[in-house]
Amino acid sequence: MKYPTAIYLDHAASSTLRESASKAMVEAWQKGPGNPASTHHAGRAQRRILEDARDKVASLLGAFPDEVVFTSGATEANNLALLGHAAAAGPNSPLIGSPVEHKSVLQVLCELAKAGHPLTLVSPNPEGIVPDLTCALPTGANPGTVTLQLANQETGALQPVGKLGKQLASTHPAWRLHTDATQAVGKIRVDFHSLFVHTLSLSGHKWGGPIGAGALLVRRGWPLRALCHGGEQQDGRRPGTESSMLAAALAVALSEAVADLDAFQTRASAFRQTILNTLKQNAVPYEINGSPEGLPHILNLSFGGIRADLLVMALDLEQVAISAGSACTSGSILPSSVLTSMGLSKDRILSSIRISLGHDTTPEIVDEALVRLIRVVRRLGGGGLS
Ligand code: PMP
Repeated sequence: MKYPTAIYLDHAASSTLRESASKAMVEAWQKGPGNPASTHHAGRAQRRILEDARDKVASLLGAFPDEVVFTSGATEANNLALLGHAAAAGPNSPLIGSPVEHKSVLQVLCELAKAGHPLTLVSPNPEGIVPDLTCALPTGANPGTVTLQLANQETGALQPVGKLGKQLASTHPAWRLHTDATQAVGKIRVDFHSLFVHTLSLSGHKWGGPIGAGALLVRRGWPLRALCHGGEQQDGRRPGTESSMLAAALAVALSEAVADLDAFQTRASAFRQTILNTLKQNAVPYEINGSPEGLPHILNLSFGGIRADLLVMALDLEQVAISAGSACTSGSILPSSVLTSMGLSKDRILSSIRISLGHDTTPEIVDEALVRLIRVVRRLGGGGLS
């Protein structure tokens, strides 16, 4: 059997560009020049590509086309949502979130707190789930903003966003709810309106679209203040010439990911089981960090006593790409704030790695990755793995 040489199992950081997405970009580019805002035939051709992409994204995610604001990715979308909600809710309006959020949410919350918004962060349970944020709602305060991600970037834990949205809609209808759905879209079925959120962010490169293409869904009737000024594009919510090429690629990749949702879940669950069974059969001790009910394609494991940064480096020398914690924190040996907030020990956190599977992961890739992983763990463990 022919084994792949370079193995990529870091799809939660960025996944393989789908063939269909690459084709859509080239096709949009080959249509010729044109600014989607221009009224001549060339501009109209680009606008058609852009609006077709907007329609497709909206229909795949249960939104209206005018609720889709294309952005450069989820970092921008999270900033646009949270800064926009806080500005709309008014100075000193309260904010509620959790330490499990991605930096592009947490750091915005911290900046807003510095500017005078009272901030409450609710810790997750040991499985990384935040069962209830309503306990942090202040009584009698001005309406504010609550943010809760749909799926976690390090453990794959799924958060009860729909339940929270329903609760807020009935008890605190003036409050705004944002969800960072970056790790969930394209992996589980996501329906914007049935989550009862006001904004939802997403990023194309997590499901085989291009890097640099994302979106914020913004519920009708809940205007946001723009981050940038200087144009009327996307109803002034995100000024700047839109990239029809990136939007087309994002939409095509999303429709492929959504069509493959159930099959992907089945494949990922089977691969996850293979990884855990093989480690067990080879007497390699490990601990799983996070909920067993989470996204099956994200597996966060600690190999007792082996430092994650050394393991990631040693695997890289074996041509296996995985990450220590989330990609945004690797390179730094600070313990992951997500795992810390779950109450895990420092040793367990510093030895935690994330393996994440993608749409093009095959059984051969998983099998060969396991051979190399077991070899490296045994070497680094120096026989002291027990
Ligand atoms: N939120 C989450 C949950 C993520 O995993 C990421 C990507 N690491 C982002 C936001 C930022 O996305 P982007 O790379 O599109 O800026």
